[in-house]
Amino acid sequence: MTASGRVIPMVESHPVGGDGSARRVLLIGGTHGDEYASVSIVFKWLQLERRPGIHWRIVPLLNPDGLLRRQSRRVNARGVDLNRNLPTPNWKQESEHYWIQRTGRDPRRYPGPAAASEPETRWLMKEIDTFRPDVIVSVHAHYASFVYDGPGSAPHRLGNLRRRQLWKYPGSLGAYAGRHLGIPVLTLELPWAGILPDARATQRIWDDLQHWLSRNPT
Ligand SMILES: [Zn+2]
Repeated sequence: MTASGRVIPMVESHPVGGDGSARRVLLIGGTHGDEYASVSIVFKWLQLERRPGIHWRIVPLLNPDGLLRRQSRRVNARGVDLNRNLPTPNWKQESEHYWIQRTGRDPRRYPGPAAASEPETRWLMKEIDTFRPDVIVSVHAHYASFVYDGPGSAPHRLGNLRRRQLWKYPGSLGAYAGRHLGIPVLTLELPWAGILPDARATQRIWDDLQHWLSRNPT
């Protein structure tokens, strides 16, 4: 449940056949409610063929309260940036410092009153704890790139998204799961928040992602 009582939708896709060694992958869209393409592309991928050997839990929209407003916005119903609210070490000190010093108290990047103060954050933490994913893939927009956090090795390519290093944000999923819990986190940044990649580009990212997932054991 979200802060306003909405359900966070989740689709589970069990691997076909297999010997129980399937890789568990948690795929998340819509952490930021105004990044429409990050929600739509997850629904597009749900319609495409899934490779055997992967056990998916797919969350197309982590932040329904942010999206389903008259005017969609990045933060949740309580005005918190869900990608800054996860309990990374020294969260209080680092997230406040970051928010005040680097963003000038940007309300779109408010990390929250405390680590894991938000129901969506706690829902996600519980999901990670119970599902124990081998890899987490989180979709955002709009830097046309991808970032890799955690152990193992990053994909060489994902369609036309290029690999890049981002700032290490306190309270982000990459910092929390990737560096703190040691679960590889792949953060995709689509080219635009409001325009989906075309069908071919959507397919290519999906193919490259699944290719990497099925070849990269952790
Ligand atoms: Zn985002």
